[in-house]
Amino acid sequence: MLDLSGLPVVDNHCHPVLREQHMDVMQFRSYFSEATHPDFAQQHIPHTIYYLWLLHQLTALYWSERREDALIAARNRFTSDELLRKLIQSANIETLILDIAYPAPDRCYSSETMAEIGGCRVAKLLRLETLMEQLIMVFGDFDEVVERLASEVTNAREHGFCALKSIVAYRTGLMVSEWSKDKAARAFIEARAEATKTGKLRVTQKPLIDYLLHVAFARAAKQRLPIQFHTGYGDNDADLRLGNPLHLRAVLEKREYWDMPVVLLHESYPYTEPGAYLAAVYPHVYFDLSYTIPFVEKLEMLAFTRQALSVAPASKLLYSSDGIYVPEMHWAGAMRGRSVIGQALGEMIKIGEIDVQEGFALAKLILHDNACALYNL
Ligand SMILES: [Zn+2]
Repeated sequence: MLDLSGLPVVDNHCHPVLREQHMDVMQFRSYFSEATHPDFAQQHIPHTIYYLWLLHQLTALYWSERREDALIAARNRFTSDELLRKLIQSANIETLILDIAYPAPDRCYSSETMAEIGGCRVAKLLRLETLMEQLIMVFGDFDEVVERLASEVTNAREHGFCALKSIVAYRTGLMVSEWSKDKAARAFIEARAEATKTGKLRVTQKPLIDYLLHVAFARAAKQRLPIQFHTGYGDNDADLRLGNPLHLRAVLEKREYWDMPVVLLHESYPYTEPGAYLAAVYPHVYFDLSYTIPFVEKLEMLAFTRQALSVAPASKLLYSSDGIYVPEMHWAGAMRGRSVIGQALGEMIKIGEIDVQEGFALAKLILHDNACALYNL
């Protein structure tokens, strides 16, 4: 087992936390599941291995007895700012790369405030589907939407974003196809009609999303701007069958996009081996190892870490937590990521695959260096 506790981490995919951290047991619990059914927190989360492990960790962190209500009371004694600072600092997080589109920004700390309070560096992701929805709500002319989207992507770095993010796996799936402009424009009229009728928009028209994604890909490739794709495990809004990263083949094969680095998020769980395979065969594909979400226990984390390390070069692997809502997630991901990566590499050292020095070097790439280079931090 390698002791990686001294290594600072770059969390290459996570979300802001809520400004109001005072909450009851049920609310806290509900964040530790991707189930959206209201009964789930009550009946099932206390019986998941992940959550039971987390309560053990919090016992030491908050000097509290292990009863869930006592732990939540102990955390509620801190102000929201104090909690954020304590957790980011004790996890030795150097950089957070935040998808600021979710949860709703008005409920969350801004990225600037998270940096200031946490004493860490923060970088931002530009979520494409949210940008599409904002533009379609405002502009009635399809050409104008296309042009504005292209210009937002072109100016993304200037506007403080270090990468793009797409959640198309949550909408119409990762098989992003090429559509004629006519078909896309027809779908745009449908989306506009929905927006005008209901006053809001959740874009679900495949020709429209795919078309606009290709507009973004072309602009991203021109400036070597990375894009993260949600792949695999998510809530039931996502059809998991469409989240298999192998569906991205046409996009990955397209020569014009080879200068757009692609990051497959959440170890594509449970499609970890195919995802790591893509990182092993395409020079521009990277593979994210996420240690809070999916909420799996340590043996499963060891399994996906071993798979990723076995199949893909460590120079293609990036650490993340996918932490969201409460800073315990960002904290737990960093603690767990170091421990699991340290153990997996330790096993490989033990059987003579690599030596200790090589083990440390690979760990440093995954936890820190790869992300700094990829996102130009
Ligand atoms: Zn996420």
